[in-house]
Amino acid sequence: MSGIDQHDAVQHFWCPQLGQTINFGYCRQVQGGLPCTRVLTCFTPHFDVAAFIEEHYTPEERERFLAPAKGRVERVLDTLEKVRQDQQGEDK
Ligand code: SF4
Repeated sequence: MSGIDQHDAVQHFWCPQLGQTINFGYCRQVQGGLPCTRVLTCFTPHFDVAAFIEEHYTPEERERFLAPAKGRVERVLDTLEKVRQDQQGEDK
């Protein structure tokens, strides 16, 4: 197994979230210590990032950080469901 920091200095020319050049060392830790959801898209042209992820993260971790972020509609529906559940709890 090679070091998890071996590609930290690799740069992606343009981060669509930050609007600047960024090092892989940032991208691999940006979600509470786990990689960014877009890490495969951004870094596949630079090195074998799929193999890196396979080597360094468990299937459960991969599922967490590779899952697409919830969209606005999904977040609104989640909030409505939580409000509905809270109201049902108060009615009892
Ligand atoms: S992996 Fe995420 S943080 Fe890194 S350059 Fe891509 S969008 Fe930006």
